[in-house]
Amino acid sequence: MLVAGGGPAGWAVAAACARLGLDTELVDPAPDRPWRATYGAWREELPADADAAVAATGRGEAIGTTRHLLGWEYAVLDNAALRAGLAAAPVRVVKGRVRGARPSSDGVVVDLDGGGRRAAVLLDATGAARSVLGVTARRGVAEQTAVGVLVDTDAARDLVAPGSALFMDWRPHHGETGWPTFLYAVPVTSDRVLLEETSLAHRPGLGLSVLRRRLHARLAYHRIAVPPGEEERVRFPVDRPLPTRRDWYGPVVPFGAASPLVHPATGYSVATALRLAPRVATAVHDALSRGGAAAAATAAWRTVWSPAALAVHTLRRRSLESLLRFPPELVPAFFDVFLALPQRHRWAYLTGREDVQGSAAAMGALFTAAPWWLRGRLVLGALDPRGSPALGDDS
Ligand SMILES: Cc1cc2nc3c(=O)[nH]c(=O)nc-3n(C[C@H](O)[C@H](O)[C@H](O)COP(=O)(O)OP(=O)(O)OC[C@H]3O[C@@H](n4cnc5c(N)ncnc54)[C@H](O)[C@@H]3O)c2cc1C
Repeated sequence: MLVAGGGPAGWAVAAACARLGLDTELVDPAPDRPWRATYGAWREELPADADAAVAATGRGEAIGTTRHLLGWEYAVLDNAALRAGLAAAPVRVVKGRVRGARPSSDGVVVDLDGGGRRAAVLLDATGAARSVLGVTARRGVAEQTAVGVLVDTDAARDLVAPGSALFMDWRPHHGETGWPTFLYAVPVTSDRVLLEETSLAHRPGLGLSVLRRRLHARLAYHRIAVPPGEEERVRFPVDRPLPTRRDWYGPVVPFGAASPLVHPATGYSVATALRLAPRVATAVHDALSRGGAAAAATAAWRTVWSPAALAVHTLRRRSLESLLRFPPELVPAFFDVFLALPQRHRWAYLTGREDVQGSAAAMGALFTAAPWWLRGRLVLGALDPRGSPALGDDS
């Protein structure tokens, strides 16, 4: 197995393969570079073996125009601990950049800086920006963008009470009109919280300078001093096209944000990659011994993109298109409607990657609960062809 990319997804799937006894190599241009992003997830969505890598947790809360309890916990990961756990697996690490790959009679030939490699399957976990497969969107990309700072828990207690994690706060305390942004306010350690002004999705992504200005204005509104030092900057696509049919069942299987495992309406992918990695490894392991490299690649593809996963991804893409069409002033009220849905619907929509029935029921419940102005927008979004899953160059 060759895994391109040493982010959380690449490491998770490489470790899972190696633990099953597969000869596994991971290639990354900077394999020792620490993961700098603050990774969060719903606690129950994380696999049990990620428990040791939880840095902080909080009771999930969200505010549209009023406060809602989510009914579950939020967790922020300790990147170093997560990585150390994965790196304990017998994976060979190679410094390099994968430049391309082509099928061969016994798998795949991979072009690396300074040489080549043969593998049964190449798992492309090179992240959201660009994949080895080179799948690109034809139209403008919808992106999630954010700017965040770390502050003392005490200083932020009016915004996010100790023990809580504020998933989103849409109140316009930054004082600006225009495309709405929300505050993401979560504990990262016992005494620090991340306060991040976030644009959930916009095509193209809202500028970081706008987000920084709004964050500083919001902090001033709450009488919180902007701390000196580094800020977290976020920008990644939420509507990356799925690989097109030409690529199906090839020996290069995208994984992680490259796949894209990113939930189009929330931007989350890390917990999904951690959960899915052992299933992909098992599928590859079993298929390799039965049918060789081609069967292993096919099994990996089918595990990542089962018909159910494709169907749910399509539903989620359509809801992203709806969101992008909302009149800005109505977005917080839309989230009030969503957040007031029964817990099972919200959970299915946010986490049920292969739960077609649960996702469809959640969207049906949203439609039923929605006022007329929202229903129209939901229908328009559902009809937008950009909600179609396969929009790669060859579609
Ligand atoms: C600041 C920030 C915060 C985020 N917060 C969250 C969050 O809280 N929860 C969540 O679920 N998601 C979050 N995301 C979104 C997403 O989950 C992350 O982008 C996550 O890092 C994706 O993991 P990945 O392993 O798929 O890709 P990446 O982490 O992007 O890793 C890709 C790796 O591939 C390597 N690479 C690139 N090209 C090549 C090549 N040609 N050959 C070999 N290696 C290559 C890169 O060096 C990199 O190490 C966040 C994103 C950002 C930017």
